[in-house]
Amino acid sequence: MGELATLFGPRRVAVVGATDREGSVGRAITANLLADFEGDVVAVNPTKDEVLGLESHDSVGAVPDVDVAVIVVPPPIVLDAIREAAEAGIRDVVVITAGFGESGSEGARRERELRELAAEYDLNVVGPNSLGIMNTGLGLNATFGPENAQEGSISFMSQSGAFVTAVVDWANDRNLGFRNVVSLGNKAVLDESDFVREWGEDPDTDVILGYLEDVVDGRSFVESAREVSTDTPIVVVKSGRTEAGASAAASHTGAIAGSEEAYEAALDQAGVLRVETVQDLFDFGSILAGQPLPERDGVAIVTNAGGPGVMTTDAVGDSDLSLASFSDETVERFQAALPDEANVYNPVDIIGDAPVERFEEALDIALADPNVGAAVVLACPTATLSYEALADAVVDLQAEYETPVAATLMGGSSARDANERLSRAGIPTYFDPARAVRSLDALREYREISRREYTEPETFDVDRDAAREILESAARRDTNRLGVEAMGLLDAYGIPTPDGEIVDARADAVEAAERIVGAGSEDGDGEGGDGEGGDGEVVMKIVSPDILHKSDIGGVAVGVPPEEVGDTYEDLVTRARSYQPDATILGVQVQEMLDLDSGVETIAGMNRDPQFGPLVLFGLGGIFVEVLEDTTLRLAPVSAASAREMIDEIDAAPLLRGARGRDPVDEASVVETIQRLSQLVTDFPAIVELDINPLVATPDGAQAVDVRLTIDQEEL
Ligand code: ADP
Ligand code: MG
Repeated sequence: MGELATLFGPRRVAVVGATDREGSVGRAITANLLADFEGDVVAVNPTKDEVLGLESHDSVGAVPDVDVAVIVVPPPIVLDAIREAAEAGIRDVVVITAGFGESGSEGARRERELRELAAEYDLNVVGPNSLGIMNTGLGLNATFGPENAQEGSISFMSQSGAFVTAVVDWANDRNLGFRNVVSLGNKAVLDESDFVREWGEDPDTDVILGYLEDVVDGRSFVESAREVSTDTPIVVVKSGRTEAGASAAASHTGAIAGSEEAYEAALDQAGVLRVETVQDLFDFGSILAGQPLPERDGVAIVTNAGGPGVMTTDAVGDSDLSLASFSDETVERFQAALPDEANVYNPVDIIGDAPVERFEEALDIALADPNVGAAVVLACPTATLSYEALADAVVDLQAEYETPVAATLMGGSSARDANERLSRAGIPTYFDPARAVRSLDALREYREISRREYTEPETFDVDRDAAREILESAARRDTNRLGVEAMGLLDAYGIPTPDGEIVDARADAVEAAERIVGAGSEDGDGEGGDGEGGDGEVVMKIVSPDILHKSDIGGVAVGVPPEEVGDTYEDLVTRARSYQPDATILGVQVQEMLDLDSGVETIAGMNRDPQFGPLVLFGLGGIFVEVLEDTTLRLAPVSAASAREMIDEIDAAPLLRGARGRDPVDEASVVETIQRLSQLVTDFPAIVELDINPLVATPDGAQAVDVRLTIDQEEL
């Protein structure tokens, strides 16, 4: 174990605020500790002589060698109690008392002081406002819940204390055991990252489950979870996903939920299996704790019931698993072993009159097939079948083949004993075959996570000073919004942009167009010439930090021939003035025209999340981005491998790869642009939001045609 070894493995625990008053939290905790804990329990309460048969001490310092202090005293004296414990040399403290950050300014101040106190004495503090902690290995139940958990290999943290009691009660009915349980409370000191790290080092924790309403330090959580999740699966329900849910969470534990997409991207990058429901949390948790990972994606279904077999097949279709196609040898073995009416292809239907021996033989044959990575044993109750005998056979065969198996023994009380035998052997059982398949699919997903390789993002040689100067000059103009006048920012970071110039006079526009077209035809030998439009055409755009979408107001003129450049200049400025008389107009950009027919308009962008920092976006771009919403996100910094994955993930990926006989675009150039953008937004916390839209991807490379960003001057 790591830094929290003493917290979870104490020899002596003191309850500060122990009491025998009926119905009190102090009594419940003392009684729970006395029930099973292998170590000593010490009662501290100066107003009592004795509590539940224990001598009551005036102070936590009165007894030597206390490892953990559980604090249950009223809010105003919590800090004094902790200081006393700290002075007595105690480093691990569980604060049960509520009335801190979750309850007004007085509580918030108290929580701040608690944090300072913890820093001063280097304390590990759980809570405040926590139900407590458990370690079943020592019989340690330092909670005020009604029941102790059973022993198991799942460690569970919950931001809701009430939910812990419900889960333990429910899990005890299903033989689902836990290793450690923590009610996180307000997470003033120890938070989800600390427990993830701790359990990642705990050889007795096979799976980490979490119910979270927010994440205290997004970056630290992603880093800890990414390291741990390659060896230990982490499954999390993050509540507060919808707007209504988010405000509910805020009023619950004083949690402020971050943005949904940021969480999704962050948890995914952290290798966390995110689930939507509590049912999935425990379904996935128990199969991950009980079954090995599948080596292949093919699933065999063995059943005595046709209809449920079809349901299971549909569920496989909805998952990322597939129905295993059996080898010829397997099919022959099925033919020899099963009656003529049986279906010897997947799903294997061994017919309603099947006795347990036939089930056993069929499962044996299926598991021996080299294409089978997992199996679902699916049965309906019949007079010829003993569920208990079937359960024993499944347990034995699963152990023999070490292939993951999920069972669906449909029925009510007739399945109870059999299900108990199966779950004791770590084989999950469900009434609904879809749940069995989803759980097996979770094993597959975790297999992929466990194989992930993390590559450090590269750092490119860039002109950071030039970029800073552009951001600072915007700040001097007293604006937080920048448009194409900030194209130089991209140049400074090596992101290719078409030739362009911003002018503020008609004559300069004409001159700029001539220069750009001339330059275009000069390097026009070979492939480079494909880039610009025919007949010396250019693109012209209004430049104003106050106009967000230039084309919406007719502020972009594409394919302007040389003779119209002057008039177009006047026209663009007039339009902008009539559209928004008070807009600051910096001028007109004259830009080299790109051949969009051979390219794809993509978008590369960034949004800074308060929890997780800069998120990089890539997707199908152009003026319909919001309508199409074909985009994907990563936390910056983004490695080349992740940037490639981002391209893979969008639906329009085939467009980039040469759909319908077009030439594929230069993907490497898109990948590098994403990486360079990621470096830019990581280097400058002042950049709050940024869009490169479009980033035109062509067979000859990617070019940033338009840019828009928002800065936070205080971060400069
Ligand atoms: P905005 O997004 O403010 O409307 P853009 O600069 O993105 O302005 O231009 C809008 C559209 O005009 C682009 O999506 C693209 O289709 C086209 N366009 C802009 N610049 C060029 C260019 N240099 N070459 C070819 N097409 C362009
Ligand atoms: Mg644009």
